[in-house]
Amino acid sequence: MRLVIASGKGGTGKTLVATHLAASLIKDRKVELVDCDVEEPNSHLFYDLEFEKSEEVKTISPKIDSSLCTGCNICSERCEFNALSVVNKNVIFFPELCHSCGGCILFCKAKAVTKGEKVIGKIEYAKSGELPLITGRLNIGSALAPELIEATIKKADKSKLSIIDSPPGTSCSAVAALTNADFCLLVTEPTPYGLHDLEKTVLVARRLEVAAAVIINKSQKTNNMITEYCKRENIPVLLQIPFSLEIAKEYAEGRLSAYLLSSLKKIIDQIEGMI
Ligand code: SF4
Ligand code: SF4
Repeated sequence: MRLVIASGKGGTGKTLVATHLAASLIKDRKVELVDCDVEEPNSHLFYDLEFEKSEEVKTISPKIDSSLCTGCNICSERCEFNALSVVNKNVIFFPELCHSCGGCILFCKAKAVTKGEKVIGKIEYAKSGELPLITGRLNIGSALAPELIEATIKKADKSKLSIIDSPPGTSCSAVAALTNADFCLLVTEPTPYGLHDLEKTVLVARRLEVAAAVIINKSQKTNNMITEYCKRENIPVLLQIPFSLEIAKEYAEGRLSAYLLSSLKKIIDQIEGMI
């Protein structure tokens, strides 16, 4: 099962839920944690571990042979990301803008563009006790987070329950983490911003046909706005994590909370019942 932990915005407690859920289940199940928040992966901070190995992730990067180039400008016109510019019949390539679509290779009639490679990041492997952790880490300056997320998810062991810590928001990166998931836990907080971003994430999950439930973090009296929305939209609220100084302290120090371990362990049966 692929279970994605997502949130409409950063700072709502997505990693808190993912790390505790994985740790709470490891004694009873075959489980692994996959950190796909590739621009700032931090799940490893909650465990006592060292990375055992890592591998580079590469994608297409166009190589231009100026001796074959006619300066026709077609590649520049066709590139959706403005990564190519033709000046005085010379092609200038801006690698930071290139999204590795390969279009310029197909469109160049002079065969002046060929397929090269570039490293966009790496996948790191670690183990905390029996819990495997796979982490995608994007190179600084790379725009290809979705490609790295897809490559990271492919490394997940299909015989295990894979808990995916998604990037926040509803951009291409979050969509890449949610695509083909079996279930999605949406972590939110009881504020107008939390509700606004939850609504957007629910739309994305529905568009991708991924069943979803909600966890309210920093739960307090203003919860009504979230619970009423979930009731209207028929989305179950599986857990409300209290607004607690003790949990905040443990989180800030990178310690796992005993309260959260026992609370999150209980929701997995409910999730399986909804798939
Ligand atoms: S499409 Fe090919 S020939 Fe035309 S400018 Fe680009 S690289 Fe040169
Ligand atoms: S591979 Fe795609 S994004 Fe990159 S330069 Fe070519 S057309 Fe542009």
